[in-house]
Amino acid sequence: MKAIITGISGQDGYFLSQLLLSKGYEVHGILRRNSSMTQGTLDLLPENIRKQIIIHYGDITDGNFLSNLLQKEKPEELYHLAAQSFVGYSFQNALSTYDANIGGTLNVCNAIKDASPDTRMYFAATSELFGQPKETPQNEMTPFFPRSPYAVSKLAGIWTVRTYRDAYKLYMSNGILFNHESEVRGPEFVTRKISQAVAKIANGSHDPIVLGNLSAVKDWGYAKDYVDGMWRMLQQDYPDDFVLGTGESHTVREFAEAAFRIIGETVEWRGSGINEVGLSGDGKTLVKVSKEFFRPLESDNYKADYSKAKKKLRWEPETKFKDLVRIMVESDLRKLK
Ligand code: NDP
Ligand code: GDP
Repeated sequence: MKAIITGISGQDGYFLSQLLLSKGYEVHGILRRNSSMTQGTLDLLPENIRKQIIIHYGDITDGNFLSNLLQKEKPEELYHLAAQSFVGYSFQNALSTYDANIGGTLNVCNAIKDASPDTRMYFAATSELFGQPKETPQNEMTPFFPRSPYAVSKLAGIWTVRTYRDAYKLYMSNGILFNHESEVRGPEFVTRKISQAVAKIANGSHDPIVLGNLSAVKDWGYAKDYVDGMWRMLQQDYPDDFVLGTGESHTVREFAEAAFRIIGETVEWRGSGINEVGLSGDGKTLVKVSKEFFRPLESDNYKADYSKAKKKLRWEPETKFKDLVRIMVESDLRKLK
């Protein structure tokens, strides 16, 4: 079996490439050139694994590149993970987010349709499509109500995929995935921002973590569990859409509390809104709030109903919230040794 992964240098690419290699796949990845010639999470893979991955340099906004690649390789599966994936950034940079996430997804769909129609495709949709959901928990039938340029771009993506699937009878499945994190999560995302700062504080730093909306409610799972769900989606007889999540909701405040607990600190919260602070037992400021990290619109109150994936894919998340926090903090502690 041959698979192409777009976005192989991101968090999910890191786990998916290892999963597919362990199943005996020939794994190809699309990588963008950058001036420092670093390879994102590929640089974090053990050498013996990294050298098994066949890299193609290119950009998903380049339709010709994708068509030529699909024409040449004709993979059995393509996992379309590449995207501008940071919601906060999308408010300041909507057009480049649309170019990558809408234009890029359209290019992938066209390349499959024209050059390799037997390729099965996974598209990385998102719980951000739900915005501020009107019902809890959220499943495949919950109405979409995007509340950021990122979410709008993924709405166009999911509908492009559904349209191509129906119009051209292509095998294209959408994963509506809730937040999933890990020890290789980008440092701008709140979970990794917290785990890295907590590790620094454990090593003597006096800098508090400065956060935005502490009350935002998300459904956080472990990325390694979720890439297994992506693979399962492409092993079904027919293409379909699936929600993956944990069914457990937590606030950013709870994530911070759990992270500090790993290093033996209990956080005591004082004040409210922009003046809220998290203090240690001996009165040291561990957490502060700044307007800088609030978004023009918030999307939260998330809780996944993943019963369709459980039934049809036999998929269930293995890693609980507490274990996820522990994995992330302990990994960042090890990196500082
Ligand atoms: P990351 O941000 O870690 O990775 C994104 C990847 O896309 C990187 O490899 C990046 O390359 C690549 N990329 C971005 N733009 C382009 C482009 N124009 N051409 C080629 N490659 C490009 O995201 P994750 O791994 O966390 O997520 C994977 C997918 O799942 C994304 O589409 C994301 O939106 C979606 N998703 C993620 C969720 C999560 O909680 N993690 C939840 C739901 C959906 P580079 O390294 O060069 O920047
Ligand atoms: P997202 O769910 O894909 O936007 O992932 P993030 O990790 O960026 O954000 C998760 C939630 O944390 C959002 O509701 C943010 O508003 C909230 N949040 C609170 N403080 C911060 C912060 O300092 N950084 C980030 N990235 N998010 C924050």
